[in-house]
Amino acid sequence: MNAIDSHVNYLLHLNPTLSAMDRIYLSNRVANLVGDAAKTVAAVPNALDNLDALVAAAVTNGVIADLLPAKQILEAELMALGTPTPSQANAEFWQQYQDSPQAATDWFFNLSRATNYIQTRAIAKNIAFTTPTDYGELEITINLSKPEKDPKAIAAAAQTSPSGYPACQLCLENEGYAGRLDYPARANHRIIRFPLGGATWGFQYSPYAYFNEHAIFLDAVHEPMHINARTFTNLLDILTWLPHYFVGSNADLPIVGGSMLGHEHYQGGRHEFAMGKAPVQQALTLPGFDTVAAGIVHWPLSVIRLTSTDRQPLERAAEHIRAAWANYSDESVSVRAFSEDGTPHHTLTPIARRVGNAYQFYLVLRDNQTSTDYPEGIFHPHRDVQHIKKENIGLIEAMGLAILPARLLHELNEVQKYLLGQPNTIAPMHKPWADQLKATHTWTPANAETQLRQAVGQVFARVLEDAGVFKQTEAGQAAFARFIATL
Ligand SMILES: [Zn+2]
Repeated sequence: MNAIDSHVNYLLHLNPTLSAMDRIYLSNRVANLVGDAAKTVAAVPNALDNLDALVAAAVTNGVIADLLPAKQILEAELMALGTPTPSQANAEFWQQYQDSPQAATDWFFNLSRATNYIQTRAIAKNIAFTTPTDYGELEITINLSKPEKDPKAIAAAAQTSPSGYPACQLCLENEGYAGRLDYPARANHRIIRFPLGGATWGFQYSPYAYFNEHAIFLDAVHEPMHINARTFTNLLDILTWLPHYFVGSNADLPIVGGSMLGHEHYQGGRHEFAMGKAPVQQALTLPGFDTVAAGIVHWPLSVIRLTSTDRQPLERAAEHIRAAWANYSDESVSVRAFSEDGTPHHTLTPIARRVGNAYQFYLVLRDNQTSTDYPEGIFHPHRDVQHIKKENIGLIEAMGLAILPARLLHELNEVQKYLLGQPNTIAPMHKPWADQLKATHTWTPANAETQLRQAVGQVFARVLEDAGVFKQTEAGQAAFARFIATL
């Protein structure tokens, strides 16, 4: 069998509405994409390896340029031939939903993987481990899944003028979009439509997932993120629709928010984070909300947990806390709601989940001020830990899952050699940390990797403490109590 026939078999398997009668048609469509010369390429057993063989043939045949984005565009097109159309995918999702919400997400998740829209092979390259800290087992991921930008592709893309379409990567207009040298290929991308707050929203998976069933819920309209009373209702509506998922929103201000503030969206999925396992260190009473259990979570960031089986008071309690925090200042701990010019600094990172019949909110208090001492942010990773993490602390990290940059794979290797007294090229920025580790631990080839990973976990805990507005100190917790007293 040749690689084209093998791929056609896979396309027939991907989309059950295709049948044997489509075989000739699909062979011709595939040959058109990869070049007739590919008919001499032998099939490879695994469907994704076979896809690679077809893409390699297209490069050899001169059908596409030998550039990573050009290959990704072709991969997506080859899979799109067997991906159910958006209307077929939506119909099947809702059909499965009649069995159960989980049957529907299982089907959609498996489809998104099988079409290679979720980049399973790239995700498998990530380095992931857990490490014990004062706040429980934090999760660390060194993110190696996003491909490095190819300098040749960057140069080629610079020749073209930006089209402004799609407006951003979270717009519905990405569904089926071919992609460009400077924009991801989405021919095999599908989005499930669902009603939310009287509007239409989309539900999709993240192509470079950070955790199991990493989902994105996006507004059909390209409009900026905002956290308000509507957010809390929306999050609980999503949990009513998909009770087996958690869902949360990044904050809606720079520094403390995510990287996509321009398009209203939430993230969710099927994973329990360290924050969800952390105990409540102090129970609270919220006057006027008798049916809502409240407490401060033992966590490096400042988190109030609210639990209730009664949705309406729970949503109102969350909005009550948000509105109070938006206007709350305490100069003694550098917490300020507004600059002198009226710029707002306070918002929340809200996360919600189901616990049995109850709904639960985790409200992370955020403050995005900068100062001369902390130009990147007073409540942002400080300079002495930026050698490990200098990016924003978004909702995934706030919950205790570090997404660390790819550079650390090589850099930590050199730190380890330094700690073991071997020849190395340790980066100067890691040296003060490494010297401290050398002085406080005994390093052997047998314990080095584990000890170094634990040390990275300690730095991540410090990163999260930096992002906490009320510190885990006597003064910090007294300040937290003063805010709580205003509620
Ligand atoms: Zn958009």
